[in-house]
Amino acid sequence: MTPGTATVALDHRFARELPELAVPWQGEEAPQPRLLVLNEPLAHDLGLDPAWLTTPEGLGLLTGTRPPEGATPVAQAYAGHQFGGYSPQLGDGRALLLGELVDGSGRPRDLHLKGSGRTPFSRGGDGFAVVGPMLREHVISEAMHALGIPTTRSLAVVATGRGVRRESVQPGAVLARVAASHLRVGSFQFVRATGDDGLLRRLADHAISRHHPGAAEADHPHLALFEAVVAAQAALVAQWMLVGFVHGVMNTDNMTISGETIDYGPCAFIDAFDPATVFSSIDADGRYSYGNQPLAAEWNLARLAEAMLPLLADDEETAVAVATEALQEFRGHYSAAWSSGMRAKIGLSGSAGDDAASQLVRDLVALVQADHVDHTSFFRSLSTAARGDAEPARRLFLDLAGFDAWTRRWLALAPDADAMDRVNPVYVPRNHLVEEALTAATDGDLDPLARLMDALAEPYDARPGLERYAVPAPDSFGRYQTFCGT
Ligand code: AMP
Ligand code: MG
Repeated sequence: MTPGTATVALDHRFARELPELAVPWQGEEAPQPRLLVLNEPLAHDLGLDPAWLTTPEGLGLLTGTRPPEGATPVAQAYAGHQFGGYSPQLGDGRALLLGELVDGSGRPRDLHLKGSGRTPFSRGGDGFAVVGPMLREHVISEAMHALGIPTTRSLAVVATGRGVRRESVQPGAVLARVAASHLRVGSFQFVRATGDDGLLRRLADHAISRHHPGAAEADHPHLALFEAVVAAQAALVAQWMLVGFVHGVMNTDNMTISGETIDYGPCAFIDAFDPATVFSSIDADGRYSYGNQPLAAEWNLARLAEAMLPLLADDEETAVAVATEALQEFRGHYSAAWSSGMRAKIGLSGSAGDDAASQLVRDLVALVQADHVDHTSFFRSLSTAARGDAEPARRLFLDLAGFDAWTRRWLALAPDADAMDRVNPVYVPRNHLVEEALTAATDGDLDPLARLMDALAEPYDARPGLERYAVPAPDSFGRYQTFCGT
């Protein structure tokens, strides 16, 4: 039997349980849909036949123009603080939730489209997305997944055949994205602003059941939900910092309740280690700079706490006290995750010599920052130093005496080189390589993208022939600037 749309069994739990946040809608017709990339392993995991997804019916699903029979795609309502300023109504202005699928591990996953046309939340926008930025989300989200960092996934990017007006006319595209859910801090803010505490309770219960089921067993499930989000976000941002990822637009509408990374816009990976690194053209003040990300996350979680106040206690004063105490846990969670991650990166995971290892981490951060050392290649080369050849790491420094002194102290603690290679990637989506692949793809050549994706799929496994994917951009690449997810 040829699998048809009827075989795609989408659930609509979000729309059913939270209809106040779901506006039934459909994707705008794509004049000439053409599949650019398809994530076959992910399709299989979701029970979707990759061959069927390439058919006109399959492309109809992936663009939202032909939803499966009985399916009711919705645009989701949410609010959010953008660069500190509150917008009471954002919502899916160019996106649709098709519904939920169950993956191979039995977990419900949102199937969501980005770039599918105008919705009631579009405000001044055209509802569309273009090939470059959608492929960018494809590359970086899949790289994050391969690195082991919680993230939304990319199932496919389909070029629509529509010209979309940006600074110039660009080829339009729809990204099909998969996520644990699209509940955001901004979802809670939107509901809080309605003043409907019953709806707020329903949203929190929905979030508990989908993402933090353990909270249901707690004495105070809604407080436990907040604590679980605090812990998940602290762990997530620590992973970003360890790998050198800069999200770039950590607005509260771009922070999930699940703890997955979401909404890849002007994000990028650092080369030289520098906390002040900003890539986004619109982040002139560095609000979302590399080093500010933990603080930005904590600030967003304070907004979540405010939105949840009516659920935390009967009177506001108690609720604020309870929320403040819970939010204070963020720093401890974050520091613990970052410190143990850094000890792992230098091969000193064991509890023995913890103090010495922590001091080594602090001293190392000062050294790499002072010399603007390339983050990814430095940590990877350090395992070679642990195996007896310090030269590849040493040549990245100007302060050779400082590096040598640090290395002597570090080697005395017998770092585990093989364990280091399991946590320090060789390949990350380097900015010049991402740009090269996206430029070629926008001009119709998908080969550089495919080669980049191959390297990024096994980031910890150094392979011959992929040397150019492991080194920083040449100086001629200059300072990198990114533009918001247009
Ligand atoms: P983002 O920067 O992608 O996180 O989007 C922030 C908000 O702007 C969300 O409400 C989006 O739906 C909306 N938005 C972004 N681009 C467009 C567009 N081209 N048309 C309509 N809405 C958009
Ligand atoms: Mg967003």
